[in-house]
Amino acid sequence: MDLSIIIPLYNEAESLPELKAWIDRSLKDFSYEIIFVDDGSTDGSWEVIREMADKNVRGIRFRRNYGKSAALYEGFAAARGEIVVTMDADLQDSPEEIPEMVRMIREEGYDLMSGWKQHRKDNALTKNLPSKLYNWTARKVTGIKLHDMNCGLKAYKADVVKNIEVYGEMHRYIPYLAKNAGFDKIGEKRVHHQKRKYGSSKFGLDRFVHGFLDLMSLWFLSRFGGKPMHFFGTSGILMFLVGFVMTVWIIVAKLVHQAQGIKFRAVTDQPLFYLALMAVVLGVMLFLAGFLGEMVSRSSATRNDYQIKERL
Ligand code: UDP
Ligand code: MG
Repeated sequence: MDLSIIIPLYNEAESLPELKAWIDRSLKDFSYEIIFVDDGSTDGSWEVIREMADKNVRGIRFRRNYGKSAALYEGFAAARGEIVVTMDADLQDSPEEIPEMVRMIREEGYDLMSGWKQHRKDNALTKNLPSKLYNWTARKVTGIKLHDMNCGLKAYKADVVKNIEVYGEMHRYIPYLAKNAGFDKIGEKRVHHQKRKYGSSKFGLDRFVHGFLDLMSLWFLSRFGGKPMHFFGTSGILMFLVGFVMTVWIIVAKLVHQAQGIKFRAVTDQPLFYLALMAVVLGVMLFLAGFLGEMVSRSSATRNDYQIKERL
């Protein structure tokens, strides 16, 4: 089979029949399966999917709403196609873009092709503007030059989705997960974007706060996940040194004055004393965090999980 089209959806009943017809029109030259992952919808989406189900239309239904990442995770696990495509269910992404994305993967050797909604048809103030800022940050942190990291429309070599694990709300950073797994040929294609026709958006402004925190977590994990002490230990040593130097300074100054018989303020009467105290305590705490981190990472089931490209 050429393609698996994975469609995570939460309460998108009205859109589904149109979406299916549009996909069928756009992918005449391919053999494909459509996998609808119903993320706990309560609006009858599942009944619509059941109506459409046949040997090329499959469905997975969650018992409750887990989120888009969970839906993608199950979709990826079920995919059987040589290339895996994801798209939103709300008719905002156009399936007509898929053939070109597939061609770029097959002929130009991309591991992952991401859509870029250059002319985004969403609210300018609550989505488009924050999204620009968010994507700029993501580019700086991940080093992946994508304009639209979180675009729902993406195509992957099957190998990619079978070797990464989307969890939490990490669907925003699948290209980063892919890059960290060694799939670094990541491309981008401008795609058409439509206004939402039915239903309402499932993500509010909090996506940007959560997205930023997740980005920090992924950055930390990819750099120090297997060696937390390198992060905590380095900052611990620095803190500790700063505190140590200050402490020595405080003591020496006091002793020198005392030896000369000059009356000098009490050690605790100066701001430096408190700074020194804080720095030493923080330094020790960072070390403790490092040791705990090492224990956690040592007991991780994936501590020796490597991506092997070839063997002879
Ligand atoms: N979605 C989902 N589970 C959720 C929230 C959203 O499967 O908990 C699906 C949703 O039905 C849609 C896609 O994720 O197919 C993108 O959501 P939405 O269109 O609301 O995001 P936006 O386009 O506003 O960024
Ligand atoms: Mg949408």
